[in-house]
Amino acid sequence: MAILNILEFPDPRLRTIAKPVTVVDDRIRQLVDDMFETMYAAPGIGLAATQVNVHERVIVIDLSEDHSEPLVFINPELEVLTDELDEMQEGCLSVPGFYETVTRPDRVRVKALGRDGEPFEMVCEGLLAVCIQHECDHLNGKLFVDYLSNLKRDRIRKKLEKLHRAQANA
Ligand SMILES: [Zn+2]
Repeated sequence: MAILNILEFPDPRLRTIAKPVTVVDDRIRQLVDDMFETMYAAPGIGLAATQVNVHERVIVIDLSEDHSEPLVFINPELEVLTDELDEMQEGCLSVPGFYETVTRPDRVRVKALGRDGEPFEMVCEGLLAVCIQHECDHLNGKLFVDYLSNLKRDRIRKKLEKLHRAQANA
């Protein structure tokens, strides 16, 4: 397994719309395993392939504290099941150090393929519902900062650009 490089906002590659996976083969399973290792090392609770500059529709999530509940979603499709909205503080490995409140539907159904290529569906609520929506957004080139005001998003962008310049000169 390998730890992959995570793209950071405002990298334009994060705006790429990912393509569906055509075959869940060993190459995709290797990607899934590398994404888990990358996410656990970061550490984070969700990662989309877009964030590691692979533009295919693959998501990994693990909300447990001991890495015991790995979830794989290949070609995920979301269906919103409720009008009720949840406000939650969101962060993102591609927007390190920033946490902001985002409002999203509280319950969604996701249909996807698993690591074995078999289709499955599950109903997600609470943190998992937020997380799966956040990761699906990545596959569509969207980031949680897009839900914020222009002022807030620009402030985050400027701070991260400054940080990236400092890292490049270090
Ligand atoms: Zn994210």
